[in-house]
Amino acid sequence: MQIKLTSSPATVLLGIVMLTFSSGCSPDRTKIEKNTANKEVLNITVSIDPQKYFVEQIGGDRVKVNVMVPAGIEPHNYEPRPKQLRNVAVSEAYIIVGGDSFEKAWMSKIKSANKNLKIIDSGRGITRIKMTEGHHHHHHHSHEELEDEEKGIDPHIWLSPELVKIQAQNIYSALIKLDPENQTEYQQNLEEFIGELERLDREIEKNLEAIENRKFIVFHPAWSYFAREYDLEQIPIEVEGTEPSAAELKELIEEAREENIKIIFVEPQFSQRSARVIAKEIDGAVIAIDPLAENWSKNLLKISEIFARELGQ
Ligand SMILES: [Zn+2]
Repeated sequence: MQIKLTSSPATVLLGIVMLTFSSGCSPDRTKIEKNTANKEVLNITVSIDPQKYFVEQIGGDRVKVNVMVPAGIEPHNYEPRPKQLRNVAVSEAYIIVGGDSFEKAWMSKIKSANKNLKIIDSGRGITRIKMTEGHHHHHHHSHEELEDEEKGIDPHIWLSPELVKIQAQNIYSALIKLDPENQTEYQQNLEEFIGELERLDREIEKNLEAIENRKFIVFHPAWSYFAREYDLEQIPIEVEGTEPSAAELKELIEEAREENIKIIFVEPQFSQRSARVIAKEIDGAVIAIDPLAENWSKNLLKISEIFARELGQ
């Protein structure tokens, strides 16, 4: 906006005030925000820290990422705070995880915070796993009455490097649509990131190949896609989002004994009570693995090392 020099100081001031005011309301103004290298910045909202990592790998310093779920918080029951909704108001796109995830509960709040927000499903094209396929402990719950096709679809697609390739591609497509001018830069970043994903995949594969007992017990079933990719079997403790009953715990303890399982995994964001009970009964140990760490690549590699060490040869 140009301010005419012939205007009276009062008009100039009014003009500045109006400019400031309108920039607070319109999401279209956000592209004019500059980064330290004086480049225009895209404001993108994501749900969780690993997605921030993905968007930053491809967007580089041309993106500013707003994360809906703060670090250390369990996303499944999380309610966005006013601060997050203010950041949504200046975002151009919200890149979602999709599936039967926490995001669905937030959608009406998010849409009323920003009517122009583009919603992009980073999991488009991924063959998703039904939560109920996970384990026999879940089979007594019927999902037949579901009207919504997303219902019961496992959202944890960010824990498989192979599937992150697809998510990266979807993020790339979104960025070049929002900012076609810098397509070459995004494409270069995407290629580098795909290279990183392939290296990571090979390293994890190598770490996990010699494991003999490929079944593992974990509290929250976040590892279905990871397990599918690396030929492991996840046995969840949590039943449909809640602590297991005494009978279900007993069943798990028996299964752990039969399968000679000595380690019970937990996620730092979730309850560890049932895991402790099982570990005590089988004379095993509880170990934390984080599905939401911000340094996604390093974290997943570390987890594969923990698996290799603890599930043993
Ligand atoms: Zn989860």
